[in-house]
Formats: sequence, C-alpha cells, structure tokens
Amino acid sequence: MIETAAREAICRLGASLFSRGLTFGSSGNVSVRLEDGWLMTPTNVGMGDLDPARLSRLDATGRLISGDKPTKESFLHQVMYDGRPDAGAVVHLHSTHSVAVSCLADIDPEDVLPPITAYYVMRVGRLPLVPYFPPGDSRLAEAVRPLVGRHHAVLLANHGPVVAGTSLAAAAGAIEELEETARLHLLLQGHRVRTLTPAQVEDLRQKFG
Ligand SMILES: [Zn+2]
Repeated sequence: MIETAAREAICRLGASLFSRGLTFGSSGNVSVRLEDGWLMTPTNVGMGDLDPARLSRLDATGRLISGDKPTKESFLHQVMYDGRPDAGAVVHLHSTHSVAVSCLADIDPEDVLPPITAYYVMRVGRLPLVPYFPPGDSRLAEAVRPLVGRHHAVLLANHGPVVAGTSLAAAAGAIEELEETARLHLLLQGHRVRTLTPAQVEDLRQKFG
C-alpha cells in the first residue's frame, strides 16, 4: 500500500471505530505493512484522535524511524506478520462484546464462537482463545505465535481480539464481523440456538475459505 494513502486509511478507520464505540480511551491499535516496514498507531493516543503525520513508522527490522512511539502492543502485530506472510494489516481492539465472550467460563478454547452466520464463517472462521497474560508480558506473544499460521484471528482471554487481513479493509471487516458475532452470541445466551450445521460450515469453507 502507498504510504500516504495508508496513513489516511488508518486514521479514517480509527475515527470510524471510535465513533461507533468499537474502541474507547486509548485502547486498540492498527498497523499496515508497507514495502519496507510498517505504519502503526502510537501509544497513548485515542483511535479517534490519530494524526496521519504522527503515526509510528517502523523500518523493515521493526525499528522506529519517524513519528511517535508505537503502541505498547506492537509485539502482537509483529507476531501476526511473522506468521502470516500474506498479512497486509492487523487490527486489535478491546471491543466490549468480544472481551465479554473472552471472559466466559465455559468456552471452547479451540474455537470460541459457534458458527451462527455465514459471514462469520467466511470472514473469521475458527477462533482460538489465547490464555490470559498481564499487559506487556512477552509470554503472550509466545502463546499467540503457534496459532498464527493456521488462524488469522485470535481472541486474547479477558482482553480482546487480534485480527490480520490481506488489506486494512479485510482486517477491519473481519474484526467487526467478530465483534457483531460476539454480540449475537451473548444475545442468544439462554436461548436454544440453531447454528449452521457442520455440512453447511464445510460448504462455506470449500467455496469461500
Ligand atoms: Zn490490547
């Protein structure tokens, strides 16, 4: 992606996510892969207040070469890019419904959300739960690393989702689908639910996976 366009796109996405309540305070972070490095949202800045000129610009080795200091969660982005050569962007949110689901006691850590809708299956697929680690703990990166080759989306327990996509639009679309599915899942708690059948899920994976 051309750097100037990428800077604008990150700030537009940040403002959009913030205005819709998908991120709040200074939580959440976004990165885009460039030909020779990355653009990343800076630490301690709300996603609604991003300035294209002050985004963290990292070189191909991950060193900051211009802009403000990158998010403290930059290691999560790096792990996703390391494991997914096709990833063009990564989005991480503390979005309410996804975090709520990540705190439920009886979830399947191999695949957190049931296949409620076709778009969830197509855009997110299987969603593994990563065990809880406190902020900044490098063991979190090591817990995410083995999952990344097989999954472009992971849910950090008691924390939030991290999603990679081939483009910024793809990563944003997938994390928004994840958040909406988490919301539906919570709405359906206590109801008898008819999820997609394994055959219907397999059919979607064949056609769109
Ligand atoms: Zn976080």
